[in-house]
Amino acid sequence: MRKPIIAGNWKMNKTIKEALELINSLKRELVYIEGVDIIVCPPYTALSDASEILMDSNIKLGAQDVYWEHSGAFTGEVSALMLKDVGCEYVILGHSERRKYFFETDEAVNKKIKTSLSVGLTPICCVGETLDEREEEKTFDIIKRQLQGALKDLSQEDISRLVIAYEPVWAIGTGKTATPVQAEEVHKFIRTWLERHYSYQTSQELRILYGGSVKPSNTKELMREDDIDGALVGGASLESVTFIEIVKNAI
Ligand code: PEP
Repeated sequence: MRKPIIAGNWKMNKTIKEALELINSLKRELVYIEGVDIIVCPPYTALSDASEILMDSNIKLGAQDVYWEHSGAFTGEVSALMLKDVGCEYVILGHSERRKYFFETDEAVNKKIKTSLSVGLTPICCVGETLDEREEEKTFDIIKRQLQGALKDLSQEDISRLVIAYEPVWAIGTGKTATPVQAEEVHKFIRTWLERHYSYQTSQELRILYGGSVKPSNTKELMREDDIDGALVGGASLESVTFIEIVKNAI
């Protein structure tokens, strides 16, 4: 039985003060919640304060990206060791916005996954097709290519420490959610791919999240599907009321 995950991707939103207000409210309201892993991924600037507040709470901290080198002359970048040092346990990698606006490739995602795993961070590796790709019936080819690239040369043990997020690009921030059937079809494809390339056990244990306009009203129906183990939530994670409801609907 896979424990569900609800992860909030705050993207480039919230000052430190705003971030702490939201985190305090989540902490208060979710303190008794069990049976779901709750993760928040604030911007880098709020990680340190967030980490202090979340210490000993049931809410885990994640970052939204990382660089693959451990240190050196890489102006503007943040290393996996630094994220670990600040208290992160998770890191979102290969988000479609990074692929689109920052030209991130599958090869870069692969290097970032390896670096993250080497310091004990859990990568949340995002894959997903664009609307054009879906309409051209290339969804499975795209997902396969992204998985092959991002997971290249990872051992079975590495894979067992990952979380994968299926995020159809056309559903992110658009208000259009994949139907449970559409989402499940791809989740099942991912799980079958994992079974073929690693093992049945690995494929059954790995958690696959859905992301793309998740809100309180559609969480339950998505989570009812066999292979959907939770959600990566963007817009609806920025308000405590909606994020709390999503978490409660995931149990
Ligand atoms: C995301 O950015 O990962 C995401 C799923 O965003 P939204 O929930 O706003 O579609």
